[in-house]
Amino acid sequence: MTTLLLDGGPTAPDAPVTRTGGTPLAPTGTPWPTCATCTAPLQFLAQIHLGDLPGHTAPTPGVLALFMCANRPGQCEQWSPTAGGNLALLLPADHLEPVPAPHGTDPELLTLGAVRAAVPTPTPPPPGATVLGRLGGTPDWLQYDETPDCPTCTRPMTFTAELTEGPDPATAMNFGSGRAYSHTCTPCGRAALLWQC
Ligand SMILES: [Zn+2]
Ligand SMILES: [Zn+2]
Repeated sequence: MTTLLLDGGPTAPDAPVTRTGGTPLAPTGTPWPTCATCTAPLQFLAQIHLGDLPGHTAPTPGVLALFMCANRPGQCEQWSPTAGGNLALLLPADHLEPVPAPHGTDPELLTLGAVRAAVPTPTPPPPGATVLGRLGGTPDWLQYDETPDCPTCTRPMTFTAELTEGPDPATAMNFGSGRAYSHTCTPCGRAALLWQC
């Protein structure tokens, strides 16, 4: 089963919904994450409420928070699920608050230029809808199957979300005009992000 994510237009930067852009929400005291390759603060891309996944049942399983390095485009292996140029966090669903931005960093390196709600909708999409991605089902790989193994238990991770760059290249995520894929291992609390183009 697949749920589509449709462009719901602008939303608040700290909206507790599935969205691209804005401010990351995380448990109190969570520091803004940094690039494992160049040490600069990562750019926040998107948050995905896993309660939006098809077939999900209570309790709400959590929130997926996706980051990528915008400091040195193309030089931190941002596409790789393991190189450290991006980060996917599996967070609890409750008691999340905005993560304070690190001082002295260009805001363009920290957040996207626009905040867009990504509204979960069953397939097929209504005519004229802009699809931002999808949840569950199987990944639509642009190249080859690149399912990552969980860094904790080494088993293949579960495909969770696929994202496209969105309708406005000036303010959107940068996947080299490709698609991003996020996988999770819920028992281990791990998540991964990679993209292909
Ligand atoms: Zn970097
Ligand atoms: Zn695992």
